[in-house]
Amino acid sequence: MGNPRSANGNLRRKHRARLKAIGGECGICKGRLGPIHYDEPSDSDHPLSFVIDEIKPVSRWREFGYTSREAAAQDWNNLQPAHYCCNAMKGNKTMKEVAGERKKNDINIVDGLW
Ligand SMILES: [Zn+2]
Repeated sequence: MGNPRSANGNLRRKHRARLKAIGGECGICKGRLGPIHYDEPSDSDHPLSFVIDEIKPVSRWREFGYTSREAAAQDWNNLQPAHYCCNAMKGNKTMKEVAGERKKNDINIVDGLW
């Protein structure tokens, strides 16, 4: 099947296309910031644009029992659509950790703020 690196890239593109076709809401803010702007380029100028969020951070693949970084990045069940800005906020944390930090810092969650 040729070069495995390009095969991985193809799979990644397929996942991206599939998430886009489904057109779901952001898995991080749960639609709090509104729908994902699927047609915009994914960059910091477009905070509501579409990116793939890895539910279990790829950089911590060992912790979550994956055989490799790639395995975590290509596991369909580990992927969800997200806003660019929400994904940047989440970083390499899990949702649970993000929620825990918010509690710890005693942040008042105002609707629509994040
Ligand atoms: Zn979001």
